Amino acid sequence: MSDEPPKLPIGEAKFPYFYGVDVGGTNIKIGLLDDLGRTLAFRSIATKEAEGPEQAIRRSAETCRQLASEVGARPQDIPRAGLGAPGPMCLKRGLLLNPVNLPNWHNFRIQDALANALQVPVSFVNDANAAAYGEFWVGTGEQYDSLALYTLGTGVGGGVIVEGKLINGMNSFGSELGHAIVDSRADARLCVWGGGRGHLEAYSSASAVAARASERVLDGATSSLRKLLDQDKAITSKDVYLAALEGDGLALEIIDETAFYLGIGITGTVHTIDPGIIVLGGAMDFGGSTCPIGQRFLRAIVSEFHRRTFPNVASGTRIEFATLGGNAGYIGAAGIAHSDFHGK
Ligand SMILES: [Zn+2]
Repeated sequence: MSDEPPKLPIGEAKFPYFYGVDVGGTNIKIGLLDDLGRTLAFRSIATKEAEGPEQAIRRSAETCRQLASEVGARPQDIPRAGLGAPGPMCLKRGLLLNPVNLPNWHNFRIQDALANALQVPVSFVNDANAAAYGEFWVGTGEQYDSLALYTLGTGVGGGVIVEGKLINGMNSFGSELGHAIVDSRADARLCVWGGGRGHLEAYSSASAVAARASERVLDGATSSLRKLLDQDKAITSKDVYLAALEGDGLALEIIDETAFYLGIGITGTVHTIDPGIIVLGGAMDFGGSTCPIGQRFLRAIVSEFHRRTFPNVASGTRIEFATLGGNAGYIGAAGIAHSDFHGK
């Protein structure tokens, strides 16, 4: 998951260009992309969340202009920008509501703020939907008309594109795959954000992996993870991954269970939209496709899905790790600006 994306020389770029801005709690990633989704210039700036949204948007717009001038792009070459930000939000009003990791940005009209600062129209989307659009446009899902992305991080994000169209929904809550119900029992785990029981996020997010591992150790399970609790340290999903690499039985069990619940969630998604491809993004990839633990994780997801679906659907659906890593958000934000600009 490299931070620096490859850059296309401006001489090979195709007009017009689009800005992509991906706002996170720690960093804001900003790119200038050409009409085929290739990055011409990129920078990551600190969000400085506590200083509030106005100055962050002002610095973002300044960075956009710097990127354009660095590669010699003129203002008329860049007709539109795309903006991704964490929800909850109101897309119709261009408004952030109360994102958990942006506590000083609540009820901020972020879309207008960026449009005014940049003097171009801005397309506004949920950050996970932006990442899904990035993978759809130029990433793992490039060859497909539809795609669903699960981002496995602190929470479980989701993004769904059906026949080229991003599903935003009536309440700006479309594509929230992390809040799909995967456990209907009365004592199912509580969702991290909202209080609902049995949501996928309560089982397959990094925080849920850490919580489940800790609970199991406290219940007496034998594991090398115990020494962390003995040292008064919290167990993280990274610790679970590292223990699994060493063959720790509990860590492997936790990862298999994480895959089990993802397999259930994915089956529901596939049976709703039949996208042909499911992409797994986010920081918690257990080493990804090049690591034996990541491979085991993916195999366990696929086998759970196959156990629950129809044979022709099983053979006609790929489940893959994402290819754009942490850059999918700004790329997808620019992609949605591209799509809105071209009216498709
Ligand atoms: Zn939930």
